[in-house]
Amino acid sequence: MGKKRVKVDLTRRDFLTVAATAAGSAVAAQALTTGPLSPFGDLKRRQLSLEGEVAHAPQGGYHWGMVIDLDKCIGCEYCQRACSAVNDVAPDKHWNIVVEERTTGGSKFFFSRPCLHCQHAPCVEVCPVQATFVREDGLVVMDYDRCIGCRYCEVACPFDARKFNWEERGDENTYVPTWGSPEVPRRSRGVVEKCTFCIQRIDSGQARGLIPGEDREATPACVNICPVGARLFGNLKDPSSRVTKLSRSPRGYHVLEEIGTRPAVTYLKKVTRDHGKG
Ligand code: SF4
Ligand code: SF4
Repeated sequence: MGKKRVKVDLTRRDFLTVAATAAGSAVAAQALTTGPLSPFGDLKRRQLSLEGEVAHAPQGGYHWGMVIDLDKCIGCEYCQRACSAVNDVAPDKHWNIVVEERTTGGSKFFFSRPCLHCQHAPCVEVCPVQATFVREDGLVVMDYDRCIGCRYCEVACPFDARKFNWEERGDENTYVPTWGSPEVPRRSRGVVEKCTFCIQRIDSGQARGLIPGEDREATPACVNICPVGARLFGNLKDPSSRVTKLSRSPRGYHVLEEIGTRPAVTYLKKVTRDHGKG
């Protein structure tokens, strides 16, 4: 997918040299974050000019999406644990979070959040080296070899879905093997990481003729593990898929819809009794 903003193809080494020079200068740093070179000012202008359009509309026959039913979620955190096991995520940097919330009427519910794989993804728009990008199937992914660790994407994400690796990890993953086994390499120090919708399963599954969302081996771990079926995954371009039908439910909504990031995750509102966490 073409990008409009970055005109010079910097290698990681080139950019590190530039970044090191800039780091020595408070004036340059100021210019990069708040001045005329700031990607955030540019982001704002672009979002205004794109009103009504979709910046990264999925091409082809697939747009992977998820539905999370807040009425079903019991706050067990199984999704978080399975995610952390198969994606080898650090215990203080969960890609999936589960938090307790209250409806306006005071009812308790549990809100879980993966990366929302936005079609108007601010994280993608601000990345100066195209280390994060949107695939044709709508997945917002990372090229860790390109990432220079500037953390612009982490700041730009309105949903706090990105985590920066301050340290090289040497710890054991305590979710392994109870909740699964790592399927992807551990990320290095100095890069930002986030949920991929278990891209490794989607890609290897499709290569074997499996259907993500229907065949377990091709489906995100968080969806498979949920004991109450609160998470569904599938192709939003298939009008007959359950995920498409449920995403059009009258209970469906998108988080912070008003800011226009066009998430691929639809939440179904809580409508019934409280659940206890356990
Ligand atoms: Fe980017 Fe955040 Fe949207 Fe994920 S949720 S695509 S990290 S802006
Ligand atoms: Fe791109 Fe984020 Fe890495 Fe910066 S930290 S290079 S914005 S992916």
